[in-house]
Amino acid sequence: MRLSDVKPILAEKCEAIIALAASEGFTLIVTNGYRSNAEQDALYRIGRRGIKGERIVTNARGGQSNHNRREAVDFAFVVKGEISWNEKLYLNIGRWGKQVGLNWGGNWRFKDLPHVEL
Ligand SMILES: [Zn+2]
Repeated sequence: MRLSDVKPILAEKCEAIIALAASEGFTLIVTNGYRSNAEQDALYRIGRRGIKGERIVTNARGGQSNHNRREAVDFAFVVKGEISWNEKLYLNIGRWGKQVGLNWGGNWRFKDLPHVEL
């Protein structure tokens, strides 16, 4: 849980998303908030460093992601005690994001379903 690392207005909206999720019986955790430029560069290298089968996870280099500006958060669903990456679940993030006035990564060309930002 790293909501204390992001801008207060974003933290507030994310708390609201977590509450909306809970009201519908879903458990959400925050997997990413603030990321340093170095951490972002490390993510950028994933899928680009010649490891077979590894996929690209971001097109943003250090300084280019809203995570670097404390303006983005990634969520994950917890189902029966384990993180689930079931895409259908993540469509809810878009719905809740819209409800609280956040932009959702699922609307991008390079879809990022767990991601919301200011
Ligand atoms: Zn993100």
